Amino acid sequence: MSKIVAANFKTNHTRASTAEYVRALDEGMGRLGYEAPVYLFPPATALDSFETAGDIRVGAQNAYPTVKGSFTGEIGLEQLEEFGIDTVLVGHSERRHILGESQSFVAEKFAWFKERGFTIFYCIGEPLEVREAGEEAVRRYLVEQLEGIDTEYEKLVMAYEPVWAIGTGKTATPDLIEATHAVIKRLCDRPLLYGGSVKPANIAEILAVPGCDGALIGTASWEVSSMLSMLETVNREK
Ligand code: PEP
Repeated sequence: MSKIVAANFKTNHTRASTAEYVRALDEGMGRLGYEAPVYLFPPATALDSFETAGDIRVGAQNAYPTVKGSFTGEIGLEQLEEFGIDTVLVGHSERRHILGESQSFVAEKFAWFKERGFTIFYCIGEPLEVREAGEEAVRRYLVEQLEGIDTEYEKLVMAYEPVWAIGTGKTATPDLIEATHAVIKRLCDRPLLYGGSVKPANIAEILAVPGCDGALIGTASWEVSSMLSMLETVNREK
């Protein structure tokens, strides 16, 4: 199976710069002969149906479980369908910890978009204090983050993203990733990405970890040259 690579722009890039990014990414993928899908999660204002030669799939970083309605500041199915978007990120730690999404709400969102056949990138990962409390504490925390989630959903892509490694420059070691991925794989046998300060300098060793099926990349994906450098590595190592 080819590795799954996904870019999370978070609150970066405009509509114009996203369009330019997609153009440059597509051109670069063509140059590299990169044929596997690349998932891109731009901010909601930059969602669009891009015409590309390469397999670039645009998803939403977030959406509310509704077709449309009175949910100020949110987007729903109607806004996604306008651009043919059928992929959504659910459970990202920034939504859980900064925006206060509870496990029950995350599970409700998951079920709603699953019902509509979306590909769901579902993120789980422990904060530092849980990691410091040891392996069993981490396992229990991850089990709780799977509560209410259909772990057998065929369009589910899992992402293990330790909170202490996101946007901090601190990457989990290959041994830690391998051990935690083994725990998660026992709970959910779906493709499992690692996310947390993945960058050109470490993507090869991360993707070489047994049980790591790809990478969800934040910061290092925002510059298209950095993203292409990672895709070049993925192509070389496959
Ligand atoms: C993320 O936000 O999903 C992420 C992995 O971010 P970063 O690569 O910046 O750690």
